[in-house]
Amino acid sequence: MSDILTCAKCDAKNRVTTTPAGQVPVCARCGSPLPWLHDGTDATFDSDIQAGVPVIVDFWAEWCGPCRIMGPILEQIAQEMPGKVRIVKVNVDENPRTPALFGVQGIPTLVMFRGGEQVDEIVGVVQKPLLVERIKHLQALG
Ligand SMILES: [Zn+2]
Repeated sequence: MSDILTCAKCDAKNRVTTTPAGQVPVCARCGSPLPWLHDGTDATFDSDIQAGVPVIVDFWAEWCGPCRIMGPILEQIAQEMPGKVRIVKVNVDENPRTPALFGVQGIPTLVMFRGGEQVDEIVGVVQKPLLVERIKHLQALG
């Protein structure tokens, strides 16, 4: 499985397959860290939550109105914080196992991971400045 990540600096499209542990994906053209937002699945979840930066998992679905508010906020954060955060979008209809594992009751639910461990959770829509604060707090945890 691979993801196409577009560089926020030079607009180059990068095909990213695996990113070595502790590293972040960088642009093949200009070397800048790439905005790291991609789809996750039940099958890939264990590796999706591994990263040297905070990971936010967005549990969402097509039919969920509030998820349509949350989606663009997460895209903006990915664009504005390349190399600082990994955002994984999990469609709960297509991937029922992972949300069940984390006891997700309603969506959108954001579950945050640091070093593969769950460290925070936000249920419902959260405004961007608050979410950025939470991510910065997770970064401070080292
Ligand atoms: Zn670039």
